[in-house]
Amino acid sequence: MGARASFADGKKANYTSIAALRPSAQNGAMEHLRRLTATFVLWALCFTAGAAGMGVAIDVGHSLEKPGATSARGRVEFEFNRDLALAIGQALTPRGLEARMIGADGSENGLNGRPAKARGVSFFLSVHHDSVQPQFLEAWVHEGAERLYSDRYAGFSLFVSRRNASVQASLHCASRLGEELRRAGFRPSLYHAEPIPGEMKPFADRANGVHYYDNLAVLKGAPSAAVLLEAGVIVNRDEELLLADPPRRGRMAEAVAAGLARCLDKSRTARP
Ligand SMILES: [Zn+2]
Repeated sequence: MGARASFADGKKANYTSIAALRPSAQNGAMEHLRRLTATFVLWALCFTAGAAGMGVAIDVGHSLEKPGATSARGRVEFEFNRDLALAIGQALTPRGLEARMIGADGSENGLNGRPAKARGVSFFLSVHHDSVQPQFLEAWVHEGAERLYSDRYAGFSLFVSRRNASVQASLHCASRLGEELRRAGFRPSLYHAEPIPGEMKPFADRANGVHYYDNLAVLKGAPSAAVLLEAGVIVNRDEELLLADPPRRGRMAEAVAAGLARCLDKSRTARP
C-alpha cells in the first residue's frame, strides 16, 4: 500500500525531471533522457521484484460474522485482531516490506480462502488474540452485563505447523518474532504447552514462546512460511486493557515488524 504510493511518487518525480530539460541542448538532453529512462526502468524492475518477493500477508483472524473469542468486557476478538493487524501493516512499510491485508473488512468467513489470497507473498502472519480453556472461565458483571473472564494466564504465543511446506523458515521467523517481542517488554504465556486437555502444544522454541500446532488450517495451507500470533489473552481483565491501548499496540506492532524484517532480510540476502 505505502510502497505503491512511493512507486507513483517516484514515477512523477522522473517525469518532472524529463519535462524540465531544455530543447536547446537537444543532444545532451536526449542522452540525459536515455540515462534517466534506463535508471527508471532498472529502479522500477528492482522495486517490482522487491515488492513482489517481500510481500507479507497479514491475516486478520476471524470475521464480523464469526468474531472468535469474547473479551472479559464483551469486545470481540476480531476487533482486537483487526486493530493490531493494521498497525503491523503500517509498521512494515518503513522497513521495505509490503503488507497484503487479508480479512480486514471482516468478510473472510472461511479458513481455506485465506492462504489462497496470500499467493506470491514471502511470508504469512495470522493475527489472533487468545482465550483460555472453558473450565477456567468465571463470571463477573461489567457495566451491568454478565461476562466471562479468567485472570489465570497472560502473554503472547506463537505457532508454527510442521505441515507447512517451509517449516524451518516458519520456525526461524517465529523465533525472531518472539525475540523482538521479548526485547520490547512483552512476555510469552507458555500456557499452551501445559498438561491441560485441549492444550499440550509442544514447544518449538520455549524461550520465545513458540509452539508446534500442526493442524492449524491457515498455517499448513499457506503458500509461504507462516506463523500464527496470539498477541495476548483478552479474557484476562488486566491484559485486555493493555491490548486495547493504542500506544502499547503500536509498540507490539513495531516489535512484530522488526522480527519479520530480521527473518526476511536473511532470506532476501540469500536470494540470488
Ligand atoms: Zn482467534
